[in-house]
Amino acid sequence: MTETTTQPPQPSPLEPSAVELMHYFESVGAKGTCPCCGQNNWLSTRAPHDLVFAYVATKADGGLLVNPPSIPVTVLICENCHFVRQHALKPLVHKIQTQKASTKADDEPRA
Ligand SMILES: [Zn+2]
Repeated sequence: MTETTTQPPQPSPLEPSAVELMHYFESVGAKGTCPCCGQNNWLSTRAPHDLVFAYVATKADGGLLVNPPSIPVTVLICENCHFVRQHALKPLVHKIQTQKASTKADDEPRA
């Protein structure tokens, strides 16, 4: 008998980790409390595999488009009341990568 194991879906490598998000938000002063319950405990919800969550455009009459214009987002959920918070993913990833490159350059010894 062959036993197979099911691997849980892996988070998308396109999105920053929860640690990266919280470090970035703290650096820009965006570590605010939940607007619904006032607590400050956020879960990062990453899309599986190579997917990302996104706002997508639809036709004005509600019809769907193939390959619609979209805004990829990263999603945070309040651990207490489950309020959903979203941030545009592309500029966020760019800023995090820029910060990482800057930090790495600062850590390198100078000749
Ligand atoms: Zn909340």
